[in-house]
Formats: sequence, structure tokens, C-alpha cells
Amino acid sequence: MFGLGLPLLSRTMLKRGTIAMKTTQMPVSNRANSIAPSSTLAITARVRQMKEEGRDVIGFGAGEPDFATPDRISDAAIQALRSGMTRYVPVPGTPQAREAVAEKLREENGIDCSAEHVVISNGGKFSLYLAFQAIVNPGDEVLMPTPAWVSYKPMIELAGGTLVEIPTTADANFLATPEQFDAAITPKTRAIVLNSPSNPCGTMYDPDAMRAICDVLARHDHVTLISDEIYERLIYGARTHLSPGSIDFMRDRTVTINGLSKAFAATGWRVGYACAPGHDGAIAKAMGKMQSQMTSSVTAFTLPALVVALEQCQGEVAAMREVFEQRAKLMYDAVSTWPGVTCAPPMGAFYVFPDISAAFGSSTADGRHIASAGDFAAALLDDTGVAVVPGDDFLGCGPHHIRLSFALDEDSIVTGCQRIGAWMDALVGMGESGS
Ligand code: PMP
Ligand code: GLU
Repeated sequence: MFGLGLPLLSRTMLKRGTIAMKTTQMPVSNRANSIAPSSTLAITARVRQMKEEGRDVIGFGAGEPDFATPDRISDAAIQALRSGMTRYVPVPGTPQAREAVAEKLREENGIDCSAEHVVISNGGKFSLYLAFQAIVNPGDEVLMPTPAWVSYKPMIELAGGTLVEIPTTADANFLATPEQFDAAITPKTRAIVLNSPSNPCGTMYDPDAMRAICDVLARHDHVTLISDEIYERLIYGARTHLSPGSIDFMRDRTVTINGLSKAFAATGWRVGYACAPGHDGAIAKAMGKMQSQMTSSVTAFTLPALVVALEQCQGEVAAMREVFEQRAKLMYDAVSTWPGVTCAPPMGAFYVFPDISAAFGSSTADGRHIASAGDFAAALLDDTGVAVVPGDDFLGCGPHHIRLSFALDEDSIVTGCQRIGAWMDALVGMGESGS
């Protein structure tokens, strides 16, 4: 088994383990090799680094509120820490915290659930990861309208599932129709992911559209709905959000995901939750069981803070939402002036997702060719110091788009958007629509 020509002495030493055997085996698993790193987090990290280097950079990349976590929430955690809440607590969360989540979901979302159906995890992201692990078997199909957030596909694949995309268009505000779901569901479909309001599209299903999709699911009772409602409190205009888990026939088939990150400006806290009331909480129990082997509970002293957030911070959430709404308008108006660009109106979350494909085939003034959203974002950052997320990793028609988060102050929005518009104006050889 040792290579020909290897001196006898070396062979002996290898056998004794005194020399490490040269091996061609990869140091990491195929599983780890199969997924890409999160591009949204990579851009956020790049912007942070550029700022630390003192560069003039305006970041539209980060998918996190720029506000401080409301004091009341931080104070509750500090108090819990000081009072000694520094030990293990029950894996799915303390009874008080689980009850506070259940009460929120009953009162605000109309979901018939109780504390035992709730699992609190390290961020909505880990809640989603556990949900896929709890539901999906190898070979199962998971349907999802695309473009969609970058992390769903790797999570589905890490659970052994196959993502089946339901492609949407900007003209339809990136919303999939009930007919599309009906046509895409097969006996192998195990779950459907809905993220309303959507990252990256910034659009959402109104209650009638949500009900119509659920009516289709009513005919396919082997399918579980994973409803990612992390942006539910950030919606604009006269819109309302309907949680599908509140529809009676969907209660047992829906896993509702939410968390502190977006509504409470608490992305670094890493507190998310899932609620799965069906089958006596079987999915919630499975998620808790896996979490018990992976991370145990969330950080203990964040749990009283979660209770305060859910029970006492309506005012703070409303104030932040109002600011986001003004920025949404500012952003949309600015994007609409860019040459050749079309954009769905922002309805919720804090993103716009304009189509910049009119710039494909053009070149920067110094001759760099732009053939993709990735080229566009890279050249834009180099030339203007403005960071956006190229849409490539959001799937579907994403590669024709860039994502801009409006979780930054209004001056930066105005300046950044002006820089983008002027830079696009200077591109050489834009398509007809861009001239
Ligand atoms: N879902 C969507 C659509 C998101 O954009 C995010 C943001 N990362 C999450 C879930 C998870 O957020 P967190 O893990 O910070 O709770
Ligand atoms: N959800 C945010 C975003 O899309 C945070 C980064 C991430 O977790 O992907 O930018």
C-alpha cells in the first residue's frame, strides 16, 4: 500500500507512526465541500473590513437593522446575568420564555399553540436548520419560490433534500401563484418554504394570496409548510401579514419561524424560535432533541430579554418600522432614476431588489466588462465604494438583480444611490433601455 520506491526505513517509521503518512485525502468532508459560504455575510464582513481600513464605503449589503437593540431588552439581559442566570436552562428555553413566544403567536398571529410547541434556538437561522433536519429525509423535495434567501438551499441540502425552485418574476412582484405550487407538488414533496415578507425581494403575499396557496396545500396533506416570518413586523403601506399557521387546516402542518434579529434590532443576540403545534408537537420535540445534542439552549440570560421584547417593546418596534418605511420610499424613488433599471416596490423587510441586467454587456470607463451581477457589484465597489449584494446566490432570476438593504441612515442612502446612478450613467455600451 506504500508507494513503490519508498525506502524500507521510511516504511518502518510510517508503520510505527513516527512519520505522518502522505495522503491525498481531502481534509474536510464532501458535505462541507458541497456548500458555499453565505455571500450576504461575506459582503457584510468585507464592508466592515473596508471601514476599519478607513475607506469611504457605503454598505447596502448588510441584512441587519442599524438601530441599537432597545434598552429595555438589553437591561433585562443584564439584570438576568447579574442575578446569576449563568447556568444551563432547559434546551428549548425556559417555561416562561416558551410561554411568552406561544402567547405572542396566539395573540398577534392567531396561531393555536402552547409553550410545549415552541423551541427557542440560536437565531432564526438555526431554527430553520433544525426544522429541515427534523422534517426532511434524503431524497425528499422541498419547494421554494425563488429568488430566495441564500441559506435555504444549503440547509435543505445538508438535510439530504433537493430544492425544487418555483421561479417568480419581478413583474409578478416575485410572488408565486397557487397554480405554480399545484403543478410543482409531487409525491416526493416533503415541504414548502415561504418567506413573507421576502429577503431578498422585499415583497410579500397579502392575506388572500396566502390563503389561496394554503388552499392548494389543503389538497396535498403530505406537505409541511415552513413559514419564515422573520420580517413580519416590518411591512409598509396598509398591508397586513397573515400567518398561514393561523388557518385552521394549516395549524398542524405549519412550522412558524421567527426571532429577535430583525424586528428588535438584535441580530447579534442570536435568538430565534420555531413553533410547530401539529401532532402533539412532534416536530418541535424532534427539533429540541437535535438541539440537545448540538448546542443545548440559547444563552440563558437572553431568555428573560426575549420575554421583555415580546411583551413590552411594541412601541420601539413601531418606531423602527416607521423609519424603515420612510427609507423604503427614499430608496425606491432613487433606484427608479437609475438608467435601464426596473424594481418591484418595497412592501416589507428592508430590501429592494432591482433588475440591473440592462448593464450586462457594458464596460466601465476603464474597460472592465460587466457580464453578471457579480461583475456589476465588484466594479461598483471598486469604483465608488458602494457595496451591494449581487443576486446570483438568491437563485431564480436573481442573477439579473442586485440586493440593496436600506438598513442604513438616509444621508448614506441618498449619497450611495447617487453614486450608483452616476456610475451607471458612465458605463459604456449600456443596452438601448439604459441609454
Ligand atoms: N430568514 C431570513 C429570510 C433572513 O433574512 C434571516 C437573516 N439572517 C434569517 C432567517 C435568520 O436570522 P437570524 O438567524 O439572525 O435570526
Ligand atoms: N439575513 C441577513 C442577510 O440576508 C443576514 C445575513 C445572513 O444571515 O445571511 O443579509
